[in-house]
Amino acid sequence: MQVYVEKPKCTGCSHCFDVCPVAVFEMKDREAPDVNNDTAPDEWKWKGSHTPEVTAKWANVQDGHKHFAEKHEGGSGGISVAVNGASCILCQACLVECEGECIVITDDTNNVYHSIYK
Ligand code: SF4
Ligand code: SF4
Repeated sequence: MQVYVEKPKCTGCSHCFDVCPVAVFEMKDREAPDVNNDTAPDEWKWKGSHTPEVTAKWANVQDGHKHFAEKHEGGSGGISVAVNGASCILCQACLVECEGECIVITDDTNNVYHSIYK
């Protein structure tokens, strides 16, 4: 399995980190040197700015998460990196919990799954 995050769309909510049973994701500070250390193609690497539509949708939502915080501060903030995609068991838990709709999983027969927030 290959897993990556379309990082300009990641709000830092940590839902993926919280629900994944096999620790595929790590939450990192946005300026961490290994923030692009997954299989995301170049267009979806973190380059310092968010997708405007995602910012507009989530910037003012008050749900206890630190949306768009630079650093990972305990429960949320920062950015998600799929550091361990090979362990993914395709339980799909992250795919329905990702508020940025920015997780992409490719299985061993090249089927592609995109997260859609429930
Ligand atoms: S689908 Fe894969 S990456 Fe997502 S929560 Fe399940 S095991 Fe983790
Ligand atoms: S659930 Fe989606 S938006 Fe939230 S931290 Fe994970 S990848 Fe980012």
